[in-house]
Amino acid sequence: MSQVRRRYEGLPYPKVVVIGGGFAGLEVVKGLNGRPFKVLLLDKQNHHCFQPLLYQVATASLSADSIAHPFRTTVAPMDNVAFRMCTVQGVDPVARIVHTDRGEVPFDILIIATGSATNFFGNVAIEQEAMQLKAISQALDIRSDFLQDFEAALYAQNEEGQRRYLNFVVVGGGPTGVEMAGALAEIRRTILKREYRELESDRMQIWLIDSNDRLLGNFSGPSSAKAKEYLEGMGVLVKLNARVTAYDGKMVTFDSGERMASHTLLWAAGVKGVLLPGLEAAEVPKANRYEVDRNNALVAYKDIYALGDVALMHEEGWERGHPQVAPAAIQQAQWLVRNLRRRAAGAPMQPFAYKDKGSMATIGRYKAVVDLGRIQVSGLVAWLAWMFVHLMSLVGYRNRIQVLAGWAWKYMSWKNTIRLIIRPYVRKATITEQEAAVRI
Ligand SMILES: Cc1cc2nc3c(=O)[nH]c(=O)nc-3n(C[C@H](O)[C@H](O)[C@H](O)COP(=O)(O)OP(=O)(O)OC[C@H]3O[C@@H](n4cnc5c(N)ncnc54)[C@H](O)[C@@H]3O)c2cc1C
Repeated sequence: MSQVRRRYEGLPYPKVVVIGGGFAGLEVVKGLNGRPFKVLLLDKQNHHCFQPLLYQVATASLSADSIAHPFRTTVAPMDNVAFRMCTVQGVDPVARIVHTDRGEVPFDILIIATGSATNFFGNVAIEQEAMQLKAISQALDIRSDFLQDFEAALYAQNEEGQRRYLNFVVVGGGPTGVEMAGALAEIRRTILKREYRELESDRMQIWLIDSNDRLLGNFSGPSSAKAKEYLEGMGVLVKLNARVTAYDGKMVTFDSGERMASHTLLWAAGVKGVLLPGLEAAEVPKANRYEVDRNNALVAYKDIYALGDVALMHEEGWERGHPQVAPAAIQQAQWLVRNLRRRAAGAPMQPFAYKDKGSMATIGRYKAVVDLGRIQVSGLVAWLAWMFVHLMSLVGYRNRIQVLAGWAWKYMSWKNTIRLIIRPYVRKATITEQEAAVRI
């Protein structure tokens, strides 16, 4: 596979292959732009996805293209950077080759930034039937699914049938679960009430399930309690200390043996690093991440680095690794760029240290929680801070303008505008009209 632009081909610079153009990979590419390296970015998608706003695409607040940015737009002005769309299938660390579905790619330095995938903890049945939120295509599936459910509920023969279509179960009380549950509650209050007037809006139920005794487990106690208070105030049914053990597309089963009918279960209960065949010696199976040293270098391999969600670095205060969030991925990437440049200049690498910039989650209009060290903020100020940080973190001015315009319209009109079923979601287990009507 041709690796760099023609004008860089003869130059004696090291070939740096970056797998994954998420927060970490893109930051590496930007940092090495114009430096004496030949950089090749590989990604199975042709765009960067801003995952923190996926739930707004899923709930029809933002269009998909407002949170995605094409890699080619990013790398076009970068003379020493090229992009190839392909799926990486493995790495040969001895031959220094990356295996992809489109051929082999040699490297001098390899940077793995493959991020994470939804973790179903081995429960294949749930994995087959549940919805998940890690990519734009999945967000669009969720959008179609809830709109299709609203439409289908109108055809149900009785109240029980309607309730089944309108019973949404979100599993996982982390930021994604909290944000999804809050957004669904707002849809019930606005869209369902105004535009599906034949349906009683209180027949729509939103459950938020977590196996812990509180929501937002990584946040402070007061923020976690505030998020629960907000959600319950919006009519979300929060069920703690409960574990979902099975789901067949129709019935949710809990560890207590309790069962609940639901047409839609969204699984947001965990993630696991995307590992590549060939680098098993650095895997930490329990964590599903690669063990790296303080330079982000994989233990047991030379010139191979891992960043972001897929990297497990032990640092004082972060004995179980850094949180799998965008700031950790970005900071590690920026530091690695500095280290690679130090190394190229013959200087030793310096150990990375994570700067925790706090945590934030939004629950709905004017409702958010922010932890900044010992300071906790909630309400309007936190909500505005959440919007500002997310807006400024988006890649590309066009995306920022689009998101700003989308939010302005949504918050002024009280409408989730993009309620389009463009590509219908085809579920595996379909509830027949008869089932919807007669069973609960
Ligand atoms: C719904 C959701 C909400 C979130 N909200 C927040 C938030 O509010 N704040 C926050 O800080 N963090 C949030 N996160 C977490 C944050 O998005 C991740 O921590 C961050 O994306 C990790 O960056 P990364 O570069 O390691 O991986 P990613 O950004 O996931 O990028 C990985 C890239 O690798 C590519 N890739 C993977 N496997 C292959 C392969 N085999 N071949 C080729 N390419 C491959 C993918 O296509 C992708 O582009 C959220 C995540 C989700 C899913």
